[in-house]
Amino acid sequence: MVGRNASIDLHVHSVYSDGKLTPGELARRAAERNVVALAITDHDTMAGAEEKRSACAQAGIECVMGVEISCEHRGGEAHILSLFADPASQAVARIDEIGAARERRMELMLERLDKMGIHLEKDELEVGDGNIFGRPHLARALVAKRVVKSVNEAFARYLYDDGPVYIPKVRLTAAEGIDLAKRLGGVAVLAHPGVSGLVEYLDEFLDAGLEGVEAHHPKHGGETVAKILRFCREHGLAVSGGSDFHAPGDGPDIGAANAPVDLLEPLRRIAAGKGG
Ligand code: AMP
Ligand code: ZN
Ligand code: FE
Ligand code: FE
Repeated sequence: MVGRNASIDLHVHSVYSDGKLTPGELARRAAERNVVALAITDHDTMAGAEEKRSACAQAGIECVMGVEISCEHRGGEAHILSLFADPASQAVARIDEIGAARERRMELMLERLDKMGIHLEKDELEVGDGNIFGRPHLARALVAKRVVKSVNEAFARYLYDDGPVYIPKVRLTAAEGIDLAKRLGGVAVLAHPGVSGLVEYLDEFLDAGLEGVEAHHPKHGGETVAKILRFCREHGLAVSGGSDFHAPGDGPDIGAANAPVDLLEPLRRIAAGKGG
């Protein structure tokens, strides 16, 4: 990756939720791709904050602390990032409750499978150190048990929305998620609205107190990016960017959002304005 322009990546996942790489591996991979600031924003957990900080320090890049909060808007998923969040904040307890609810939901899905004659124990699911449970973990365990041949088959037969094993996740409203992101001391940023089908509802998130939008995302086309940038400019919102990297060979790589380095300072200023 010699000569690649410097960029930032404020949205990647690690083994603390459903990513495949450790913070150390992520930070090295980021540095190799000339990513100068990295936010390891795991789903609904702030576990591993110290490890993330030291991994970035060792790789010689800036660590932006963060979390991706699962919310719901108009019946679909809405993901709110808290960037520059404080892992020592009292509000982390609320994040931990969301994680516990995910675990309880997984137990209910395992009960459903059990009634269908498929017996899996919770500790057969390979969840990372953050203990964050999701359907992808269950799908992989079903493959490992040879109940199905692929993750896709696991979803097609058992795990699809409203399917035989499906239990909905407890999700915050967008307003609750935005509020929580701020109470963590971070900047409340709407993740990948172009992927979640939320570009046309940006004004509703604005009304709920949103502070920034992830405009730069490898799955956002040029028109989507332009639309989001225009909205941010009109309403004084900060602009962010991230790859949503989960694993090598699985979707866009770290740095693929090509987010400009100069986006970092405005975000940092908003977080600093909260007085820590
Ligand atoms: P959960 O958050 O536990 O409800 O799991 C949702 C995740 O499951 C999504 O983010 C996708 O990564 C994955 N997923 C959903 N539907 C499918 C599917 N049909 N095939 C493969 N993965 C899926
Ligand atoms: Zn994920
Ligand atoms: Fe997301
Ligand atoms: Fe994500």
